[in-house]
Amino acid sequence: MKLAVYGKGGIGKSTTSCNISVALARRGKKVLQIGCDPKHDSTFTLTGFLIPTIIDTLQEKDYHYEDVWPEDVIYKGYGGVDCVEAGGPPAGAGCGGYVVGETVKLLKELNAFDEYDVILFDVLGDVVCGGFAAPLNYADYCLIVTDNGFDALFAANRIAASVREKARTHPLRLAGLIGNRTSKRDLIDKYVEAVPMPVLEVLPLIEDIRVSRVKGKTLFEMAEQDPSLNYVCDYYLNIADQILALPEGVVPKDAPDRELFSLLSDFYLNPTQPTANSEAELDLMMV
Ligand code: SF4
Repeated sequence: MKLAVYGKGGIGKSTTSCNISVALARRGKKVLQIGCDPKHDSTFTLTGFLIPTIIDTLQEKDYHYEDVWPEDVIYKGYGGVDCVEAGGPPAGAGCGGYVVGETVKLLKELNAFDEYDVILFDVLGDVVCGGFAAPLNYADYCLIVTDNGFDALFAANRIAASVREKARTHPLRLAGLIGNRTSKRDLIDKYVEAVPMPVLEVLPLIEDIRVSRVKGKTLFEMAEQDPSLNYVCDYYLNIADQILALPEGVVPKDAPDRELFSLLSDFYLNPTQPTANSEAELDLMMV
């Protein structure tokens, strides 16, 4: 199974991806995570360091694929998850799509591409041009990481549009949204009302998730020292279980940009009166 995880930059996409990868490995799957962000730090939380990228390695070997060995580009991460960083084109030149294509080509040459139960592409989602949409050519499911904010949902809608477009020619489905680091989900719900799609999970604002990124550890690794974090791991295990159940998913009908802009801005400008329930929730949060 191939997964493509997209989301606006800075939304916690890589942290989410790493934890989902470990959750899938905990369920007995052989997992490869491929970072497709020019920042090449997708797998940092799994390996604890910035591994060399495919493009760097290919450049070093003068693009002689036959001189590249699996151990040059595939690194073992926490929980048995294998890690690859595609890297990015040189700043100001080249194409992100080309980099993804070269990565898949090399992994196929190394007979590694079909060796895994799950391959997870972690992709930059701010620009969903043809280049950065390239992982969707290989994916069975797309997952979108968002928060409860305007910009992330706007980006999510662009990603949904790319899924709709690719699904014309590929057996691709949108598995759903993952809400990350959000104490509320009202805007996510508003969006999903307008553009129906599953919400796989909504993770609350948990400081340890942010800390895990800085520490270069997944929540699963941190939970080994601090079992009180096991409940956070359960969110990721729940996502993994839903994916492994092969959900039907959707081909989304994204909202036109202007319509979405009005929908989301209207939500901010004309908030509804708080209900008795939300007041109760607020009291609970203050306690
Ligand atoms: S397709 Fe996208 S990644 Fe490729 S050159 Fe154009 S903007 Fe850059």
